[in-house]
Amino acid sequence: MALLQLSEPGQSTAPHQHKLAAGIDLGTTNSLVASVRSGQAETLPDEQGRHILPSVVYYSAKGISVGYEAKACAADDPLNTIASVKRLLGRGVEDIKSLGSRLPYEFLQQDSSVPRIHTVAGDVSPVEVSAEILKALVNRAEKTLNGELTGVVITVPAYFDDAQRQATKDAAKLAGINVLRLLNEPTAAAVAYGLDSGSDGIHAIYDLGGGTFDISILRLNRGVFEVLSTGGDSALGGDDFDREIAEWIMQQAGISDDANHKVLRRLMRDACSAKEALTTEKVVELDIELEDGSRWRGQLSREQFHQLVDPLIKKTIVPCRRALRDAGVSAAEMQDVVMVGGSTRVPRVRELVGEFFDTRPLVDIDPDRVVAIGAAIQADILAGNKPDDEMLLLDVNPLSLGIETMGGLVEKIIPRNTTIPVARAQEFTTFKDGQTAMAVHVLQGERELVSDCRSLARFELRNIPPMVAGAARIRVTFAVDADGLLSVEAQEQSSGVKASVVVKPSYGLTDTEIEGMLRDSMEHAEDDLEARRLREQQVEAERVIEALSAALADDGDQLLNPQEREQVEQALAELVSQKDGSDVNTIKQAVETLEKRCEFYVERRMNQSVNQAMSGHTIDEFE
Ligand code: ADP
Ligand code: MG
Repeated sequence: MALLQLSEPGQSTAPHQHKLAAGIDLGTTNSLVASVRSGQAETLPDEQGRHILPSVVYYSAKGISVGYEAKACAADDPLNTIASVKRLLGRGVEDIKSLGSRLPYEFLQQDSSVPRIHTVAGDVSPVEVSAEILKALVNRAEKTLNGELTGVVITVPAYFDDAQRQATKDAAKLAGINVLRLLNEPTAAAVAYGLDSGSDGIHAIYDLGGGTFDISILRLNRGVFEVLSTGGDSALGGDDFDREIAEWIMQQAGISDDANHKVLRRLMRDACSAKEALTTEKVVELDIELEDGSRWRGQLSREQFHQLVDPLIKKTIVPCRRALRDAGVSAAEMQDVVMVGGSTRVPRVRELVGEFFDTRPLVDIDPDRVVAIGAAIQADILAGNKPDDEMLLLDVNPLSLGIETMGGLVEKIIPRNTTIPVARAQEFTTFKDGQTAMAVHVLQGERELVSDCRSLARFELRNIPPMVAGAARIRVTFAVDADGLLSVEAQEQSSGVKASVVVKPSYGLTDTEIEGMLRDSMEHAEDDLEARRLREQQVEAERVIEALSAALADDGDQLLNPQEREQVEQALAELVSQKDGSDVNTIKQAVETLEKRCEFYVERRMNQSVNQAMSGHTIDEFE
């Protein structure tokens, strides 16, 4: 099997030339950009010194604004202020119907599979909205670093499927940004803490943001992070803490549910400030403006706050437990627990998570910035700013990739856990004389039979020059890029004809499903091996039948008398009747018997071809 190795982008650059690169945390609530400057990765602030860019885009008749400015418009003009667009990225119209009721936007009713949002500045897709956020961050970086970026690393949640990853790349493309690669958010956080250069082990990454909670269990194995499992709650975050506080104030102050919107909105904002203040203070003073213009004054203590949010924090422990179970590890096995996301600033969150994992969580790096910082470190390496011996962080492909061969068997071309990017090629040949087309069926999974694996794509290589069976050399190349996208190419070597397809190997597969496929393959390993042996024997029988039938049609009359021919045909018929049986040895014997009974015929054919080759030539020419 031939092996091609792709080089990482940027590795060939001259070492002394520092290339500008950045890491981008494209978050649901907030986004950040970071870069390595004088050997130190740091997030880059805007002109007012703010590091965070709210992931909000405001579309008005006058133009587009992004960030704090856009966020300020949400209250007055919610339909044209797009927030949390990450929830829609790479999702189909069908997927978002379930989310739709919670989103205030006007979705266009249309046939296209991609959702579009109506705004006064025209209809926009989630990819376009994300592109605006990316543009704002890259502008900030280019201004601060005083030059053009060669490329960026953008982080995505570990559970993002291929459509969501592709949509993220599309957004970058639309923004005119060169993506060095996408990086899983938990992996980026682990890199920020330098866990990749520590000893091998298992790490938990606990990410509690504004509206989402993610838990990831990663295993570091010889410098490569493998995502063992992910879990979380897509509707749980700091915003829910705010809501609890707001409801408590409403009770205390006697504000009713149907108070006007302005009062309620201001209340949410006050609740959020109170929550953030309680991160450093033991108690906060509240001064709330009521509907009639009068004020309510009160206090919120940490103890009271804990009572309000403890049930929410405990709700995050459930997915943690599940993720550990999916990964087949225990809480005690965690080498580290990394805290990510603004809401992990809340001391109570740290306390309860620390209790569950029985360890002191890592909090030294600002939990808002840790993902962007890890992405910046990775971007710096990929841009070629580190010497060659510097370790490159790589991902692995979670399931084997291969193609269907004769008999419904799977030939694995890239085994599971191979670090990516990778390209591997293998040669295949034709089965029939004169075969001019070959079907390529791309599969994913660990099982031996096609029917037990997942079909990813099918395509056909046509216009193969007719040759005898087994003579054509068809090279099938599998290449998985750094983002996990697979492309497959088949090329006939003598004529150069080729065909190819790009597939999305992880599309729609959750980590739990991947786990399930792996477990299946282990449970069925023995049966599978047996099944493979049988299929292989059947394929061998078919090949012999095919070759003998072709020979008979070609020169049977010429080389065999009627009696001999009948004898050969009878032997052939016996194998045909036995080849579909379920016993390997019976079929094997039938093949051997047939070969023995036809030996004389094979010999005659060989003599004949030698004679043909020599006719018209003198003996001397062959010496
Ligand atoms: P996302 O990953 O969803 O974009 P972030 O990681 O930026 O979100 O987290 C935003 C959340 O963090 C908000 O709910 C915000 O109120 C909360 N947060 C930020 N700073 C603090 C703090 N000092 N104390 C408590 N919560 C905080
Ligand atoms: Mg985040």
